[in-house]
Amino acid sequence: SNASVKKRIAIFGSTGSVGKQALEVIDANPNIFSVEVLTAHSNDDLLIKQALHFNPNVVVIGDDKKYSHVKAALAGHPIKVFAGEKALEEVAAMDIYDMMLAAIVGFAGLRPTLCAIRNGKAIALANKETLVVAGDIVMKKAMEHKAPIIPVDSEHSAIFQCLVGETRNRIEKIILTASGGPFLGKKPNFLVNVKRDHALQHPNWSMGAKITIDSATLMNKGLEMIEARWLFGLLPDQVQVVIHPQSIIHSMIMFEDGSIKSQMGLPDMKLPIQYALAFPRRIPSNFPRYDFRKPNTLTFEEPDTKTFRNLVLATEALNKGGNLPCVLNAANEIAVFAFLRNRIGFLDMTDLVERTMQELPFIPNPTLEEYFDSDGEARNFAASLIKL
Ligand code: NAD
Ligand code: MG
Repeated sequence: SNASVKKRIAIFGSTGSVGKQALEVIDANPNIFSVEVLTAHSNDDLLIKQALHFNPNVVVIGDDKKYSHVKAALAGHPIKVFAGEKALEEVAAMDIYDMMLAAIVGFAGLRPTLCAIRNGKAIALANKETLVVAGDIVMKKAMEHKAPIIPVDSEHSAIFQCLVGETRNRIEKIILTASGGPFLGKKPNFLVNVKRDHALQHPNWSMGAKITIDSATLMNKGLEMIEARWLFGLLPDQVQVVIHPQSIIHSMIMFEDGSIKSQMGLPDMKLPIQYALAFPRRIPSNFPRYDFRKPNTLTFEEPDTKTFRNLVLATEALNKGGNLPCVLNAANEIAVFAFLRNRIGFLDMTDLVERTMQELPFIPNPTLEEYFDSDGEARNFAASLIKL
């Protein structure tokens, strides 16, 4: 029967926070999943360890210089080793897996994910930047090639779960919950002095560096608004953000009759990862359970957009569309990178994004090539601001 056929998973970005947690889920469910592809950018030692444990068909190491080390370490095992950026696309196009977990961080995840979509693969999408940069084209291609896109981002997974059984019913709006990050309630006079190590401490989630900084600046929620718009085919004003510091409600949908559905649980990325990998099934887990009998208060408040202006910039990008979300994303990647290296301050990140959005020419309906160009130009401009 079908139950004995394992779902073959390709993990792009297996050495990251999402990738590692996905491997934990797969390790706990060896009869349901097999690992066929693992990719890493530079962490060759962890990639080798993962490959020896999961015995995939293929591994890809991004950094060419590390190819021979990986190759030697896996000699004698039936594991193919590739290196370099191009290899990610080549492997994404191979007919050796059923579902790609897109867990590369940033713009770098776009091309391999598009490749998988063109080959009709199911996508468990963690890489939100893919939809922020080129959401219209990515969703159109997914329709064309009948490639299902299952969200991994916890908010979008929540909405996706709430939509089960609601295909005929219109969404009035979706309400994305945001923890508010480590600086909830803080004002610019505090934020101006924030350093990377402080910003890297998130109260509820343990994640990769880039998304942790994005959570502290609320850019993460801005990116998620744009991600949601494309995933669920919404108009910009159907996407609302509310601060919910406890991160128990992972997001909500309001339907046309005023009824609200939410998905809840303790904050643990393994849950949305597992849901996406196993979809449409739910499989048992022993993740800790939320207990409503314990004293706890769930609170909600409006985001402070005067302080966290990234939300304003992202809303502008969401409303205007075109290449503006792509430009916002590119400038933000440069800004976060510079902040992580102590090159610019916490509030400078927003200024950098704003100035880049003002500088780049607006393109209302970009082609894929124009998105790539906008990304490159925005990176160059944002980087030039840092050198001054
Ligand atoms: P991470 O930094 O921990 O891991 C990133 C992975 O991508 C690593 O395996 C790394 O080797 C690979 N990578 C990095 N740069 C690359 C490049 N240029 N080319 C190829 N591979 C590259 O990131 P993460 O926290 O796991 O996040 C991954 C994605 O999932 C991000 O888009 C993030 O927004 C999204 N996401 C993460 C979480 C979370 O809890 N960490 C939650 C929701 C969404
Ligand atoms: Mg999220």
